[in-house]
Amino acid sequence: MKKFALCLLACLSLAILAACSGQKTAAKKLNVVTANSIIADITKNIAGSRVNLHSIVPVGRDPHEYEPLAEDVKKTSQADLIFYNGINLENGGQAWFTKLVKNAGKKPGKDYFAVSDGVKVIYLKGGKRKGREDPHAWLNLQNGIIYARNIMKHLSEKDPKNRSYYEKNFNTYRAKLERLHQQAKEKMDSIPAEKKMIVTSEGCFKYFSQAYDIPSAYIWEINTEEEGTPDQIKNLVEILREKQVPALFVESSVDARPMKAVAKDTGLPIAAKIFTDSVAKKGQAGDSYYAMMKWNLDKITAGLSR
Ligand SMILES: [Zn+2]
Repeated sequence: MKKFALCLLACLSLAILAACSGQKTAAKKLNVVTANSIIADITKNIAGSRVNLHSIVPVGRDPHEYEPLAEDVKKTSQADLIFYNGINLENGGQAWFTKLVKNAGKKPGKDYFAVSDGVKVIYLKGGKRKGREDPHAWLNLQNGIIYARNIMKHLSEKDPKNRSYYEKNFNTYRAKLERLHQQAKEKMDSIPAEKKMIVTSEGCFKYFSQAYDIPSAYIWEINTEEEGTPDQIKNLVEILREKQVPALFVESSVDARPMKAVAKDTGLPIAAKIFTDSVAKKGQAGDSYYAMMKWNLDKITAGLSR
């Protein structure tokens, strides 16, 4: 009898243990992979610490062209949900992302999603067709809100028990981005008309230009093309000779030498380093999507108002 009781107790403990571990499995966090640091930061704002997050392109590196590491391949294979920009960013040029998800056996619309879905696409010079999209939609803060909404929606679908948490975070974040969008309009409006032109290495400001009504110029149009040829530099220098633009800018994720050549040829200063294709390193000014947009607004306003 005693033996039977002991056995019963053992069985019972086992059953409890099994139930506990079963519960643990149900509460498992989603494994989310993001293609770059900007999408990772927006995801963090929505998901907090309720997902496991791995981001592929390191801070400060070019997200157009990248060679995934073994770790990226592993995390992508194990991911429940993968977010990428789309519209010709990591699926343009050598299309590193397209290869990565294919090798990992992941499916579009099931495992991976373009966060730019629903954005009004602007095209590169000379082509209104697939493969000629300008990917830099996030530089318009209202598109950033579209990114955040897409991320919230897909997180909620894969992880419905946290739906209200994701929705609440999205609403707070949206309001914050909306306020910065209004500030962006005011700041760009404050720059004297004849000085209004944002000059960067890559032509990444088209969406920003359209949203905040300020022209932009560049050395090369997109990072997947040749960067900083003598002809490209000469063309920009000629444009600037006819303008009263007081300053140039250089992005954190490109080689600064071509812009230094433009500065030398025009005598114009490079007013600041700005963040377009990556957030800043953790702990530095501009280390989130919101902070990098704010940094850019402040530096552009100050640089062009001089
Ligand atoms: Zn870019």
